[in-house]
Amino acid sequence: MLKVDRVQTYILKVPLARPIADSIYYRTHWHVPVVEIFTSDGLIGTGYSGLWAGEDLLCQTIEQYIKPILLDCDPRRIHEIWSKIYWSPLHWVGRAGIAHMAQSMVDIALWDLAAQRAGLPLWRLLGGRHNRLNTYNTDGGWLNFDLDTLINDITEKVDAGWNRVKMKVGGPDNSVDIQRVQAVREAIGPDITLMVDVNQKWDLITAQRMIPHLADYDVAWVEEPLHPDDIIGHAALIRKSSIPIALGENVYNAETFAAFIAFDAVDIVQVDVTRVAGITEWLRVAQAAQQQSRWVVPHAGDMCQIHQHLVGGVGADSPVMIEYIPWALDVFEEPVVVEQGICILPETPGASTRVRAEARKLFASD
Ligand code: MG
Repeated sequence: MLKVDRVQTYILKVPLARPIADSIYYRTHWHVPVVEIFTSDGLIGTGYSGLWAGEDLLCQTIEQYIKPILLDCDPRRIHEIWSKIYWSPLHWVGRAGIAHMAQSMVDIALWDLAAQRAGLPLWRLLGGRHNRLNTYNTDGGWLNFDLDTLINDITEKVDAGWNRVKMKVGGPDNSVDIQRVQAVREAIGPDITLMVDVNQKWDLITAQRMIPHLADYDVAWVEEPLHPDDIIGHAALIRKSSIPIALGENVYNAETFAAFIAFDAVDIVQVDVTRVAGITEWLRVAQAAQQQSRWVVPHAGDMCQIHQHLVGGVGADSPVMIEYIPWALDVFEEPVVVEQGICILPETPGASTRVRAEARKLFASD
């Protein structure tokens, strides 16, 4: 019988090319906890997460609580395993945050195995809808950049072929935020799509005051304007906002996404496969969101490796888009390929999650 023989976890810490800041975090590294699932037919499935802190807690959760559930299971029974983990005693502490993200790592590894076993890239296994995706670039608009660096970085992205870019706002002075948005819009011209990301920093009154000013510069969406659990606040904001509201990178399960949608509290669903409980739950969220005419444009906590497959597999016809952040290109055997802003989907079987052997040495955490 096909079964899980062994489960192994480890942590990579990838230095960023330069320090970056949004309205709540300043960081120099990107942390990638990894799980590898070894099966009796000789395959290895790889899952991972991406975060700033707590990577050791995700690995400990897998080692101590999830590994005993996995060992000797048939790895093809993905939904059964998902439910076993979800309804294990971890349920008491884990329907969001650490335990949920640890479950995601394992679920991703199981889907990677399924795609390898099928001899298909995951996006083809899921339905194979798109083999090219538009990307928008987030890596040029950080809040710690002075105005010259901000303008240079974003125009560099545009010159490299991106016609969609995002910048951070939510700084201590609202008028400075507006000046920076104005400067970027003037630098990139009217034809480039520009989004802004508040990273939860505003309250409802601030958001209501800021959005009309942002609209003057044709901002395509405002991301995470309020606390990510505030369904009522986001619903109130959307009722008066002329700009679509995006959120989801800090929403942890299908039930909460369903509530955001039911209360008209989200326009653009940024469900992140590393935050919900893996590909299994991501697919449920995306299907429900698309049924309710919401855009699904995932947050790239995975640095796009997995989301390229998910949007390629089941994404709606419009928009066909993912976020692009290049921090983990050196981690994977087959890093995401983006040319002139277009993501070209891989044909190698699996979920593009396999870690390069050199990366384990290069980015080993001590
Ligand atoms: Mg964001």
